[in-house]
Amino acid sequence: MPKNNKRKPANKVKRTASQNAEHKIEQSLKKVLAYVGDNPNREGLKETPKRMLNSYKEMFSGYKQKPESVLKTFIEGTCDEMVILKDMEFYSTCEHHFLPFFGTISIGYIPNKKIIGISKLARMADIFARRLQIQEKLCADIADSLMKHLAPQGVMVVCKAQHMCISSRGVRKNNAIMVTSALRGVFEQPEVRAEFLQFTQHK
Ligand SMILES: [Zn+2]
Repeated sequence: MPKNNKRKPANKVKRTASQNAEHKIEQSLKKVLAYVGDNPNREGLKETPKRMLNSYKEMFSGYKQKPESVLKTFIEGTCDEMVILKDMEFYSTCEHHFLPFFGTISIGYIPNKKIIGISKLARMADIFARRLQIQEKLCADIADSLMKHLAPQGVMVVCKAQHMCISSRGVRKNNAIMVTSALRGVFEQPEVRAEFLQFTQHK
C-alpha cells in the first residue's frame, strides 16, 4: 500500500476537541461584543472573549462537583443539637438574565448521629451557587441535598441576596434584598424554626 505522504498545511493550528469547542464559543462571544455596539478587534477587547470564558469556568464550576462526595466523610456522634453556619458570602448567576446575584447564605441542621465538618456546609453552598440558579431553588437544592446525603433530623437554609437583574436593568431597585428560605424535617416545627432565626438574625 502506498503511504499517504500528503502534508498538512504548516500554518494550520491543530486543536484538541475541547480547544475547538472553546474556540467556537470565543467566536460567538465576539459576535456578542459586536452586537452591543463595539469593535471586538480593538486592543481592549481582543482578549475579552477568552477572559469571559475563563470566568465562566469558575462561575459555573459547581456543575462538575457532586454534593455526595463532599458529604462522604462525617463523624459519628451523639450530638443532636442545632449546628449553624451563618452569613456565608456567595456569588451566583441568575438563570433568567445571566446576571449575577450575590449575598449571604445561612445553613442550619440538626444531626441524626452524623456530623460533618463545618467547612462542608460552605462547600455545599458553593456547589449549588456556582451554577445557573434562581434564589429560591438555590436554597431548596442545598436543603434537599443535605437531607438526601446526610439524613439529618432537619435542615434550614436562608438566603439574602441582591440581584443585578433588578438593579442594573428592569425596575432598577438598587438596594432591594431578596430573602428566601427552605425548611425540611423538624424545622417545619415553629419552635425549631424560631431557634434558628434567633441565632441567625443577630450579628
Ligand atoms: Zn434575573
